Amino acid sequence: MSGSPFRLIHGGRSEEPTPGLLIVGASEVVTVAGGIRAGERQSDVGRLSAAEVGGPDAPDAPVVACWEGRIAAVGPRAALEAALEAEGYPLGRFARIDAGGGTVTPGLVDPHTHLLFAGSREDEWGMRQRGAGYLEILEAGGGILSTVAATRAASVDELMAHGRRWLDEMLGHGVTTIEAKSGYGLDLETEIRLLEAAHRLGKEGPIDIVPTYLGAHAVPPEFRSRPDGTEAYVRSVIEEQLPGVAAHGRARFCDVFCEGGVFSADQSRRILETAAGFGMQLRLHADELAPSGGAELAAELGAYSADHLATPSPAGIEALAGAAAAAAASPDGPRPVVATVLPATTWFLMKDHGAPARAFIDNGIPVALGTDFNPGTSPTASLPLAMTVACLELGLTPDEALTAVTANAAWSIGLEEEVGSLEPGKSADLVIWRVPTSTQIPYWPAADLARTVIKRGRVVVDRG
Ligand SMILES: [Zn+2]
Repeated sequence: MSGSPFRLIHGGRSEEPTPGLLIVGASEVVTVAGGIRAGERQSDVGRLSAAEVGGPDAPDAPVVACWEGRIAAVGPRAALEAALEAEGYPLGRFARIDAGGGTVTPGLVDPHTHLLFAGSREDEWGMRQRGAGYLEILEAGGGILSTVAATRAASVDELMAHGRRWLDEMLGHGVTTIEAKSGYGLDLETEIRLLEAAHRLGKEGPIDIVPTYLGAHAVPPEFRSRPDGTEAYVRSVIEEQLPGVAAHGRARFCDVFCEGGVFSADQSRRILETAAGFGMQLRLHADELAPSGGAELAAELGAYSADHLATPSPAGIEALAGAAAAAAASPDGPRPVVATVLPATTWFLMKDHGAPARAFIDNGIPVALGTDFNPGTSPTASLPLAMTVACLELGLTPDEALTAVTANAAWSIGLEEEVGSLEPGKSADLVIWRVPTSTQIPYWPAADLARTVIKRGRVVVDRG
């Protein structure tokens, strides 16, 4: 098919009456095609605008063709339809969806969630408003430990019912792929229950879920009373939990909460190196509350992602910039460490500053954006709301924020071959929004803007 602007797939063999899907009538199609984006390219979203060619119903208006759950082609309608017919894809076998002048983007990817937990922590708000910090609440036995107690008591069915409720919320906001961490069990049995629930929910669909093991999220109560509690728990993670989690086989990533007062950079390194030895990929909670060597460690270990980064040291930013430069210099070389920023968290914690996302972009570090959905510090499942906060508090432009929740988020969780952009061959995950341009997605805070959500070529949300 060389010479054709399209890469058609599967050869039209399907027995289904309408294996194809054609999305027409869009004011714009935003592809975010062409790989990870850093620096000035963070704002290059690949916008195909209908206004420039006569409007959404004009012959040259951009459309998206899907075939058997994959993107087949993106391009001007008349030429694309002719090519489909010529190459053995009869137009009669395509169901048509009229975007009604809305914008079409890739399905959003949330690269950092703590999807599965039990209970809620609205009481902590009061403590925080009186000035208590995260670590102070933790010391008082509240915070994460109250969620651990509730989660240990929850059955897998209860966890899955909770997961479905919040996945449904995410889907309604245009999210079609997420990462979901364990980390509220802090013992092997409960951590495996959480990972198993995440795995089953992903199989159930429609949202794809990448499970991450976060046993080193906090030191559990049964270890805290011991004088060497943190170190003893690190040994238990390394010697008991990691082998068990690896044998269970559901966790793709291992994550650690690398932070002063939680797990040191050295302890985090030992845990992550052990996880890598079991074939797991690495990411970490880095420099959320104070510089703690997390960004440096992520670069040293070649982690897929360093997350939070509200307070990296200058050396930490330099290390991430070095990793990004090394990756850019050699396509077959190391991956860049994606800076996955979580501005809903700093906002909800009433911090006076968030992650220095502009400095990351200025230093060529690819930026992704997640909700950090969790019951203590970011109880929002809305990635568009996180985009709004990223624009208001971190100074991202709407285009930079869109890149951060699509192409770069897919890279952050290692699914860049599959999702995060509208490119031939990728999963047909896309959203038709009730606004004419994607720059309006973060512009209307907390609005329900996703009109139609499509996962693997199937309509899964239809508010048309
Ligand atoms: Zn987190």
